Amino acid sequence: MVYKTGSEPMIVYLNGEFLPKAKAVISVDDRGFLFGDGIYEVVRSYHGRLFELDTHVRRMQNGLQSLRITIPDDFNLADIAHELLEQNNLQNAEATIYCQITRGIAPSRTHAFPVPPLAPTIYVAASPFTPLTEKRKTGVAAITTPDQRWSRCDLKTIGLLANCLAKQQAFESGAVEAIFVRDGVALEGSSSNLFVVKEGIVITNPKTNYILPGITRQVVLDLCRGLGIATKEDTVFLELLFTADEVFVTHTTGEVMPVTKLDAREISSGAPGPITGKLQAAFTENVKNIS
Ligand code: PMP
Repeated sequence: MVYKTGSEPMIVYLNGEFLPKAKAVISVDDRGFLFGDGIYEVVRSYHGRLFELDTHVRRMQNGLQSLRITIPDDFNLADIAHELLEQNNLQNAEATIYCQITRGIAPSRTHAFPVPPLAPTIYVAASPFTPLTEKRKTGVAAITTPDQRWSRCDLKTIGLLANCLAKQQAFESGAVEAIFVRDGVALEGSSSNLFVVKEGIVITNPKTNYILPGITRQVVLDLCRGLGIATKEDTVFLELLFTADEVFVTHTTGEVMPVTKLDAREISSGAPGPITGKLQAAFTENVKNIS
């Protein structure tokens, strides 16, 4: 199968080479395939400008370090991303960059890391992206679901089965996001961080091993400070969601996404709230200033 952007085959990066996606082949012995042994990142490109690239790279490096995967010193995600945007004619378009790094191809299927360490498998792709502008205006529905993930949710690993099951459950309920609940705490979405607005204060869970330290989460907290909106990094109990003035989720692709319905119950008036709106506007302004 040949993947196409326009009339050209899509070009991807695999282990130092730029090549058509159909020719980018991964071994069945890759530990990413066998064990989900790897890390990934998604970076948003706004007309060729990569949003918060350095913080994405830092999070990826932290993840790789935690998994004890070493990548070559000269790996430069910015250079590869820009090359991919150019080769796929996406420099002036809305796009996402996907980067996945696994421990590499093992000689045998044993759980412990091979010795000596393997050369990691490094894959990067640029894809056209349609901004979720309409959904941001209307808000979306979400459901709550028990958190069945492991206890290192702070690592952006490629093992996303619990997230996939939760997202599927959301879709089958006519919602777009599933909020993970563990011990009565509403932690985060299956692919987003969770925010609640109550009496003018923007509240989100503190960074623990049970949530991903979202890049957009931090951008939003910083925007709040700039706008003079009070913030609190405090445990978000499930009950708070149902009595909140506003609820929104944040992620690289959705930015600041209002949640107007939870488990089929309307949140507050059932429409996106004013603080969410202010943050959306500030986020859009912020994107204009990417250097
Ligand atoms: N939590 C989870 C579980 C996610 O998958 C994501 C998206 N990768 C986020 C939060 C939001 O992170 P970011 O703002 O860095 O996209």
